[in-house]
Formats: sequence, C-alpha cells, structure tokens
Amino acid sequence: MTRASTVHLKNDRYRDADGILSIVRDGLCHRCGSCVGVCPAGTFATDPDGYPRVVADCIHCNICVRCCSGHTVDYPALGESLYGPAGYSFGSLMGPVRAAHIGCAAEPEVRRLGSSGGLVTGLLLHLLKSGMIRGALVAVEDPADPSLGKGIIARTPAQIREAAQSRYTTTPSFAALFEIRDEPGPFAVVGLPCQIHALRHLQRLDPRWRERIPLVIGLLCHYSLPALGTRESARLVAPPGARLQHTRYRQSGERGWPHNTLEMTFSDGTRWRAPYGPAQVFNVLARAAPLGRCLMCLDAASEFADVSVGDPWIRNERGEWKYEDPDGWSSVLVRTPAGEAALNHAAAAGAVTLQAIPPAEVERGQHEMMSEKKEGASLRIRARRLIGLSVPAYPFPLPRAPGSRWAPEIISWLMRIPPSIGWVRRLMLGMGFSSFGAYWINRRIRKRRKRAERP
Ligand SMILES: Cc1cc2nc3c(=O)[nH]c(=O)nc-3n(C[C@H](O)[C@H](O)[C@H](O)COP(=O)(O)OP(=O)(O)OC[C@H]3O[C@@H](n4cnc5c(N)ncnc54)[C@H](O)[C@@H]3O)c2cc1C
Ligand code: SF4
Ligand code: SF4
Ligand code: SF4
Repeated sequence: MTRASTVHLKNDRYRDADGILSIVRDGLCHRCGSCVGVCPAGTFATDPDGYPRVVADCIHCNICVRCCSGHTVDYPALGESLYGPAGYSFGSLMGPVRAAHIGCAAEPEVRRLGSSGGLVTGLLLHLLKSGMIRGALVAVEDPADPSLGKGIIARTPAQIREAAQSRYTTTPSFAALFEIRDEPGPFAVVGLPCQIHALRHLQRLDPRWRERIPLVIGLLCHYSLPALGTRESARLVAPPGARLQHTRYRQSGERGWPHNTLEMTFSDGTRWRAPYGPAQVFNVLARAAPLGRCLMCLDAASEFADVSVGDPWIRNERGEWKYEDPDGWSSVLVRTPAGEAALNHAAAAGAVTLQAIPPAEVERGQHEMMSEKKEGASLRIRARRLIGLSVPAYPFPLPRAPGSRWAPEIISWLMRIPPSIGWVRRLMLGMGFSSFGAYWINRRIRKRRKRAERP
C-alpha cells in the first residue's frame, strides 16, 4: 500500500459534524473558522477558544471536512489547480513567485496604521474605492473577547481601516465566509496560509467560490499565538478589578516599525506595554502557551495566495535592517496574474508604492523561519507519527530535516511539557513579564548582540 493511500484511509475517519469534532479532539484544528463559514446548515459556531462547536443539526454533506485544512492539505493538487501542471512542486521555501517588492500604502496615515507598511490595507482600500471588489474578508479584534480575533466582511473604507494590523492571536476569521455564501462577489480575502488552504479546497469543490473570491491576499506566518497566552497575561498584569478591553500586538505607528510591541488597554483606562520588543514578547507567549497544530504547518509564505505579504525582515551586508523606516514597509510576493493585476492597478492609481526587489532577498531575510517550517514541522510530524499521535495527512514526501535540528527540537519538546500545567504556565508568564524577567531577557539580548558584533 502506498503512503498516500494509507493517509487517505486514515482520513476517512473524519466525516460530517462529528468528523470536525474529532479533528479538534485529535489536535489537528488550527482554528481557522472555515468549517463554521462553509457549512450550508449553520451547524457550527465558534466556542470561546475559537474552536468549532455544534449549534444546529448537520445535514451530512461533508463539505466542512472536505474543506478543512487541519487534517489534510494536498499541496501538489492545490498547486496544480492554481499554477497549472508544471507550475508548482512542493518543497521550495516560498512557493512560486513571479515578482517581489518592498511596498507600502501611499497614504501616510494608512501606512502607519498597518502592521508592516499598511500595504494590505492600502490595496484593499483602493480595490473597494475603485469598485473592483464589493468587500473583503478581514480580521478585527473580537469585541466580546479582545484576546481573540474575529472575521468580518468589510464593505466600507472605515471597516477596512479598522481591520489594519496583524492579530497574532487565535483568529477564526474564515467563519465570516458564511455571510457571503449567497452573494455574487467579487470579494477579496485576507488570510493566513492555513486559511487559504481551506479556501482553495472550497474553490476546487465549488467553482462559484472562485468567481465570488477572485483575489486572495496571504500573510506570511510563522505561528499564531494561542489566545490563552494573551488572556492569562492580561489577568496577570491587569489592575485589580479591571478587564481587558483592547489588545494591540504591533502596528507601525507611534514608536515606529519594528519597535512596537504587545500593548493591552484595561477597562479602568490604564495601558500596559510589554517590557521588551515584539520578538521577545512572542518568545515568552509562544513558550508558555501551546502552539498546537501550528507546529505541524509547512506553509510559511501563503504559497496558494495571489499575493503574499510579510514584514521586511531583510538585513544589509552590515547586518542592519535594510528597509528600516519608522513608517514601515511590507514585503510583497506576487504569485498569480490576478495578484499582479490588482497590485499594478493600485500602484498606477498611486494608492500603494512598490519597489521591485529580488525574491531571494525575502527568502534570505526569513530563511530561518521558512526552513524551520518546512524541516522542523516535518520532523515533528514524523516523531508524532512514530509515537502514534494524530498528524495531518500530507500525501507527498516530506522534507528531511538535517541532524542539527534534532537537539533543539528535543529541547523545545521537553520545554513544552511544564507549561501544559496551568499554574506553571501562569508562573512562566508572570516571570516573563516581571521586572526581573525583563532585566534577564534584555541582558541576554544585549549579550547576544555584542557577540554578533564581535569581528
Ligand atoms: C499570526 C501571524 C503571523 C505572522 N507571521 C509573520 C512572519 O513570521 N513573518 C512575516 O514576515 N510576516 C508575518 N506576519 C505578517 C505580518 O505581521 C503583516 O501582517 C504583513 O506584513 C502585512 O502587513 P501590512 O502592514 O501590509 O498589513 P496591514 O495593512 O496591517 O493589514 C493586515 C491585514 O491582515 C488581516 N489580519 C490580521 N491578522 C490576521 C489574522 N490573524 N488572520 C487573518 N487575517 C489577519 C487584517 O484584517 C488586515 O486586513 C504574520 C501575521 C500574522 C497575523
Ligand atoms: S451540514 Fe455539511 S458542512 Fe455542515 S456540519 Fe454537516 S456535514 Fe459539515
Ligand atoms: S482547522 Fe478550521 S476547518 Fe478544520 S476543524 Fe478547525 S476550524 Fe474547522
Ligand atoms: S502556522 Fe500554519 S497553522 Fe498556524 S496560524 Fe500560521 S498558517 Fe495557520
């Protein structure tokens, strides 16, 4: 029996609403919200942690399971439908790229609103104003719980602006697909790689979704921080009796890119800001809260988007940020003719600024993250399979990780055990964000910088 057919048989376990609940139980759900959004019967809603929960009867069409990218993603098949038979082969770090740019929204206010250079918001505003889209699926802070993100169909410039910035937390935004299931479109969609996998599954199943959503903007993604980490951190740093009201993970305004960091606003009006930069905040939160399905994700660059957008983590020969500008830049990978046409239209109208760069610059800048996702995730999948844990079905050969990855992987697995106990996790978060933790972490950063600067 071939590996692909073994995988297929295993995945026949999942069917209908019960199948989705089993995917969640098996630890394969990345909380994209797609099953909620595609179900014709409205069977699911999202629960307070962003997972699907059953709220109505299932009519057994199995669309949810066929779209779900938690339990399976057939990269070569998705690649073939988007790029043609010879246009895609799984394994490169970034996927097919026609052109790369450094870009930003031309309007200074939109640029500063954005997480990187506001390119996504600038592009969406232009497409909406010029009538090229009726609206866009974007993510906003969930008003019911600011530690979560939530999807909306933005139909006005104000809603698109409100959605600017990255929500690095659990964001089942594709639940909002439900709202446009009977509308003709055209709509644009902004999503993470796993969400785009689910959308492309849906578009293969039902071509009406291709016409409805002709433009897919993907974000680069290392991992998404579980809402649990933000929620527990908020409880630890909140003034007595105050509730979390807003969370901002990073935006390019105020202190300028890339120096903004996690910020929480509480119901008594006080504001707490993490005592160090975004990378260290992410380290604390990602070590304390379980990353779950993200640890088995192979797509760093939204390989099946029409345009992928990320941060300009690109250094020059002296090791400094090559595109450091307090107003921010976004790095842009153009993948399809649809993506190219949308970007060129926005650039010609002066809504976005683009500067061509070699695609290899983007890959070099994020090489560690991108190879960690291909090789590190493959290693974890093999290890989980070996000990009988559920893994996503990837019906193609996985990359081999070099031996040098084993030791850090084992250490990182061991380090993930203690925070699975609630009080240990809270202790770690408390220490991480305490004055002592900030002193210790900042000292380590200074030392590492000094070491790197030594000739
Ligand atoms: C979880 C996560 C991980 C990321 N990891 C990386 C990384 O490792 N390397 C890298 O270069 N870039 C990463 N990014 C992308 C980066 O943070 C910026 O989103 C990207 O550069 C676009 O910036 P911008 O200023 O052009 O977009 P903006 O103008 O700020 O617009 C961002 C758009 O993304 C949407 N959005 C925000 N959060 C989410 C979400 N969670 N799910 C779906 N849509 C969302 C917003 O609704 C908005 O429309 C990540 C983003 C997220 C959300
Ligand atoms: S009705 Fe169809 S899409 Fe909805 S839960 Fe049942 S099988 Fe899934
Ligand atoms: S991964 Fe997405 S589609 Fe699959 S069960 Fe989770 S929320 Fe639903
Ligand atoms: S790492 Fe993968 S699974 Fe996790 S949020 Fe990003 S794209 Fe989704």
